[in-house]
Amino acid sequence: MTVAPLTTAIPAVAPSGSGGWFSLADQSLAGDIISREDAHRVLASPDAELLELLAAAYRVRRHHWGNRVRLHFLLNAQSGLCPEDCHYCSQSKISSAEIEKYPFMAQEQILAAAERAHSLKAGTFCMVISGRSPSDRVFNQVLDTVREVKARYPMKLCACLGLLNEQQTQQLAEAGVDRVNHNLNTSEAHHGDICTTHTFQDRMDTLRAVQSAGITTCSGGIFGMGESHDDIIDMALTLRQINVTSVPLNFLIPIPGTPFEGRQDLTPPQCLRILSLFRLLLPSQEIRIAGGREVQLRHLQPLGLYAANSIFIGDYLTTPGQAAQADFDMIRDAGFVLEGPDGEALPEMG
Ligand code: SF4
Repeated sequence: MTVAPLTTAIPAVAPSGSGGWFSLADQSLAGDIISREDAHRVLASPDAELLELLAAAYRVRRHHWGNRVRLHFLLNAQSGLCPEDCHYCSQSKISSAEIEKYPFMAQEQILAAAERAHSLKAGTFCMVISGRSPSDRVFNQVLDTVREVKARYPMKLCACLGLLNEQQTQQLAEAGVDRVNHNLNTSEAHHGDICTTHTFQDRMDTLRAVQSAGITTCSGGIFGMGESHDDIIDMALTLRQINVTSVPLNFLIPIPGTPFEGRQDLTPPQCLRILSLFRLLLPSQEIRIAGGREVQLRHLQPLGLYAANSIFIGDYLTTPGQAAQADFDMIRDAGFVLEGPDGEALPEMG
């Protein structure tokens, strides 16, 4: 299937479409919130209207982000051995997945990863550690490493460290952390079905601690874990309500050895409906197609860029991503350009 870039194809006054998708885009662009009923219609829309829905989401994406794509680079700086029981996660205490397990990496290894992130034109370097929350020793190592990475590379730095209190987020801000990631993962109602060792409220408290330190919040979710359409909508509305800046949307990779092994609830069109809904509900936020992009969107990956404006380049926490060159080619072929850390369009691609 050849899909023409929509960059110049959208007329000033777009047709309403059989699903009225363009009028939802108009509402979103006007700053109005689309109704729950319309959000349900988006998630249950027929395949025949998928491109029209995506074009409506693209109107909103284009207004706020043009044709730019932000790249993030993820480093799992401490892997496995986690006492929590997040059912989707290969690093949890209840997972028997065969993954590499290691304590917090030596600073030289992290700096080497930051160098690679920079060479791949990533605007943001995301440093992740497994665990419920960092020990004092690891937290101090994180602070030292943050200072070093920030001194050497002109990238934004995002830290994903588990549950954090206000004192910790203040220290992270002082060390130069630009952003903290802490995903809500799903709705409050569904959270107990995916994790029992901490609560949705614990996660909300961490996000409030991040915001109280003046750090940008990154928070999103994972789909394909048995959630209902109401759960998807509730999570999007919560993220809107707490005013997160960056929204990573993961599509479950059903890793063997985890409780969600073998689950296959998603289809590529459904992933695109979810991405479109989030763009309509979170119009100006940075929406990232995160883990599961290759596995769940498969050949429709490039279409996701018409709703989302950001992807990870390189690998995920414990699973590989596609080659960086394939991502560069995808972005260029679909008519998009890379965006630097300060929002500037980058002239060169890999
Ligand atoms: S998601 Fe984080 S807290 Fe949950 S099991 Fe995995 S590493 Fe632990």
